[in-house]
Amino acid sequence: MNEHRLIARIEGALEQRGERIVRSVGEDAAVVRASGAAVTSIDTLVEGVHFKLSTHSAADVGHKALATALSDLAAMGAGAGEVYASLAVPGELAEERVLELVAGMEELAKRTGATIAGGDVVSAPTLMISVAVTGWASDPQALAYRDGGRPGDLLGVTGELGGAGAGLILLEGLDAALPRAEREALETAVPEGERARLLARHRRPEPRLEAGRALAAAGVTAMIDLSDGLATDAGHLAGRSGVSARVRLAELPIAPAVAAVASAAGREPAELAASAGDDYELLVAVAPDRAEAASAAAEGAGTRLTWLGELSGGEEGRVELTGRDGLPVELSGYAHR
Ligand SMILES: [Mg+2]
Repeated sequence: MNEHRLIARIEGALEQRGERIVRSVGEDAAVVRASGAAVTSIDTLVEGVHFKLSTHSAADVGHKALATALSDLAAMGAGAGEVYASLAVPGELAEERVLELVAGMEELAKRTGATIAGGDVVSAPTLMISVAVTGWASDPQALAYRDGGRPGDLLGVTGELGGAGAGLILLEGLDAALPRAEREALETAVPEGERARLLARHRRPEPRLEAGRALAAAGVTAMIDLSDGLATDAGHLAGRSGVSARVRLAELPIAPAVAAVASAAGREPAELAASAGDDYELLVAVAPDRAEAASAAAEGAGTRLTWLGELSGGEEGRVELTGRDGLPVELSGYAHR
């Protein structure tokens, strides 16, 4: 790999956006005009741990690396700003694949108004992408945090759950040496269009930046993005807020195609939707008298809030999941704190 040539080609594929940037790629360091509150998060994806090049295109990987980092900004209610990407690239990976990866990142950056303002390329035994993002808000008080939830707050979630988890089950069906009957059951579980949608949900998650800003402005008391799965992330929000959470599994917004894939894989749809990660929807806690404003804010941002539970006093960080009958449900593979 000729690192200098590759870096020059990457720089040629990037565009600058917005008035904040004074210098970006090509300088020793990026220079950005700062005002208000800077919100920074970093995420790393490693081949074989977070993705496989056998089931993800290079562009998918670039998209996903940036999307997961931007999702953390969405969860704060910040607008996307600058992106700094460090690529560790195996020698045998063609330069064109690396440029496709950068193009996947740049396409999402463009759509979200972010600028890839700097980074680094090194040789390594495994493909690894570290993405640091900086978002901006007028004021720290304009942001939403995990720790503001109070007993009596309603829990709401944007969009639909379980799509990424069902997509992963389909991908593993494509990839793994599954018994033939199981593979066929998965292959015929959903029509082609739905199948493509679920695979995209896993390969190309969408950070809910607009919804995050709108919900923070609507006065949610706490917010988190769903990277580890609803049950786990609700526990994070509740724990940081010093309260417990109750989630009614029957209220989860699950797409019909997710139920079909879950059944083919011998899983309970609501259990899959509550435990599978990578949906990158937003979970919010809202005081009851702000619930209507929060719903309207989500709709204004092109999504929908589904109310599925509430916060209460009690053991900090505990999440009680209840079934249709109102009785507690234990998720397999999910441990209460
Ligand atoms: Mg997060």
